[in-house]
Amino acid sequence: MIDNGWSAWPSRPDEGACWNCAFLCRRDFANAHLATYYELTQDDRQRARFFTLGSWNLPPTCFRAMHITDEIEQTSAVLSPIRPNLSGDERNSVNHAAVTVLAADRGCDKWMRYHPGLDPRASFDLGLQLVDQQQRRDALRLAGTQLQLTEAQSQLTTALESLQRQHLAFIQRESGMNRWMQQAFLILAVLTLVLALLPLAYPNGIEWIVERAPGAARPVAESATPTQTVSPTH
Ligand code: SF4
Repeated sequence: MIDNGWSAWPSRPDEGACWNCAFLCRRDFANAHLATYYELTQDDRQRARFFTLGSWNLPPTCFRAMHITDEIEQTSAVLSPIRPNLSGDERNSVNHAAVTVLAADRGCDKWMRYHPGLDPRASFDLGLQLVDQQQRRDALRLAGTQLQLTEAQSQLTTALESLQRQHLAFIQRESGMNRWMQQAFLILAVLTLVLALLPLAYPNGIEWIVERAPGAARPVAESATPTQTVSPTH
């Protein structure tokens, strides 16, 4: 039996392999109808005590139903290693095979770090709780993000409405100015036309205006000349 601790193990990945997985456990293969899974302890893992005389019916297995027991059997040169009458060499051989299989980097997506003192079912429940907590945290974070998005959207809408109002006011101001300019041009055009036509309609118009301007010298009318009345002498 390998009994010199981790130094007997080959290089092994920190994650994704069975050797430190919470779901590596023992199961009673002599009573396969029992659904009880036992912790495969830290000490047994470290010392590679998987197939022992005292627990011949409790070989290493996977709580997540991966077929690692079969793999160990196929890797070892020992036929049907789950039996009480294994020789010392056979036990050594099958434990070496177990180390090879359990240290293999399988990138297992069900892997979860082993915590000494927890059997695989407790680890599984703990994993579910952690997943649940993570999902809640994610949902809260998502809700927070959505709220921020809604607020940002609302601020954007308000800013857009304000911009539209300013644009509309500008257009209205521009339109009023244009109307005023059009009217001014129209009046100017009419005045110009009138001034252009006046000399044609009244050729002496300017003279007439000059004569009647305040302070202009007026010719004395003959009728207005005072006449001297000569009284008949008697
Ligand atoms: S879940 Fe994967 S890593 Fe864990 S014991 Fe089973 S096969 Fe190995």
